[in-house]
Amino acid sequence: MSAHQSNYDKISGELNSSNTTLVAVSKIKPVTDIKELYDLGQRDFGENYVQELVEKAEACPNDIRWHFIGHLQSNKVKYIAPFVHLIQGVDSEKLLHEISKQGQKLNRIIHCLLQVHIAEEETKFGFEPEEATALIGNISSSSVQFPFAKVCGLMGMASFSDDTEKVKNEFRQLHTLYNQLKIKLPSFNTLSMGMSGDYKLALECGSNMVRIGSLLFGARI
Ligand SMILES: *Cc1c(COP(=O)(O)O)cnc(C)c1O
Repeated sequence: MSAHQSNYDKISGELNSSNTTLVAVSKIKPVTDIKELYDLGQRDFGENYVQELVEKAEACPNDIRWHFIGHLQSNKVKYIAPFVHLIQGVDSEKLLHEISKQGQKLNRIIHCLLQVHIAEEETKFGFEPEEATALIGNISSSSVQFPFAKVCGLMGMASFSDDTEKVKNEFRQLHTLYNQLKIKLPSFNTLSMGMSGDYKLALECGSNMVRIGSLLFGARI
């Protein structure tokens, strides 16, 4: 057993009681690890490389719900559009446009989360909160339309820090934004925040989806 079954039992138990979805982040880990958790009942898995996701999806049971959790290049959307369950980390309007275009070709509505930049660290990826607010405003007033890309919520990553108050502040900020945008867009139902190191803090701050890798599969080296 290379997946950490006792951690899985503990974490999935904690999350079940709070109605939170566990996305098991299997990037870099082999299909045999995925199947171990699958056999324990896990169905949501997250990957962040397109080619790896496509290969694993072919090799794994087809009732798995695959989440794309990293930065997605527009020219690669077409490879995952036929089967992806949720694209987390939509970080530009251009990408949303491409997702809708590919969804239209397949006549398939593709569910997405907007990635919002909440951490102190500099990153190129993610909307600033004001940009996400503006985009959701435009979608809700139909001044821009993505008929085959449905924005269902937000995703964010807190700073890598031992300062729990700081991390919680960032998560709270995202939760507040989520609640504000949910008023404009009633299709909002998912707030994805929390990873191996900070998922308990994220749960305290209103997360309803966590993305956990190393606690379930061991460190990625
Ligand atoms: C890798 C990754 C995770 C999981 O990280 P762990 O610390 O191993 O739990 C979660 N979210 C994103 C976006 C990731 O890239």
